[in-house]
Amino acid sequence: MRDKPVLIANWKMHKNLSETKAFIDALSKRDGLTQAWVGITPSFTALSTAASLAVNTPIHIGAQTLHEQAKGAFTGEVSARQIREAGGSFVLIGHSERRHVYKESDTLIHEKLKIALEEGLKPILCIGETLQERESGQTEAVLERQLASALNGLPKSDSLTIAYEPVWAIGTGVVASPEVAQETQVLSRKIIGSIHGEAFSKKISILYGGSVKPENAGKLLSEPDIDGALIGGASLDVQSFYQIIEACL
Ligand code: PEP
Repeated sequence: MRDKPVLIANWKMHKNLSETKAFIDALSKRDGLTQAWVGITPSFTALSTAASLAVNTPIHIGAQTLHEQAKGAFTGEVSARQIREAGGSFVLIGHSERRHVYKESDTLIHEKLKIALEEGLKPILCIGETLQERESGQTEAVLERQLASALNGLPKSDSLTIAYEPVWAIGTGVVASPEVAQETQVLSRKIIGSIHGEAFSKKISILYGGSVKPENAGKLLSEPDIDGALIGGASLDVQSFYQIIEACL
C-alpha cells in the first residue's frame, strides 16, 4: 500500500523536445510534488533531456517499454541498461497498447519484467481485461493469467508496482467507477497474495489507469486499494496533470 500516491504520466508518442522541456520546467515549479511519487514517461528521443531537466526535482523519468534482452542484434529496440544510462529509473511493462497493438505475449512480458528487475529499473506492470472479457465474466481469470505468468519465478521486489488498466477505459473517456476500480484492485491484490504471499501483496502499490482526469482523480484515489494512477491523455497538459496530482494529495 502507498505511503504516497504514485502518479505517472504516460505520454505515448507525443511531445517533441521543446514541449518536453517546457512541461518539466513548468511542473517542477509547482508546490507539493514531494507529497506524491510523480513520474513521466516521455518518448525515447526525449528521455535523456527529460532526465537531465528532472535532476534535483521530485520528478522521476521512465520509459514506456524496453527490450527483454540485455543487448544484441535487435534493430530499433532499447535495453534496460540504455534506459538507465539515459537517466530513466522506471519502466512501463505490458501496457495495453503493447499487449494488443504489438501483440506482446504474457511470456514476453515476464521476460521484460525479469530484465527490468535484474537491471535495477522499477517496473510498472500493466494488467487489465478487455470489455468483451469483462462482459463475459472473465476478468478474474484474465488478471490471474497476466499476474501469474508475469510474476511466477521472479523475486519479490519491493520496487514492483502494478497498474490495473481496464482496456475499455484507456483513451475512451469511459472511466471505471470508483467502486468497480476498487473491487478489481482488491481482486488483483488477492491474486498477487496467492503468488507472493499476503504480506507482499499489501506492501506494493496498485495504480488505476483509464480515463483519469482532474474531475475524477480525487474520488478514485480515495478508495483504499487505489494507490495511484497511470494517466495518458490528461497528462499531456501540465495544468491538467498538476490538477490530478493536487486532487490526490
Ligand atoms: C494509458 O495510456 O495508460 C491511459 C490510462 O490512457 P488514458 O488516461 O488516456 O485513458
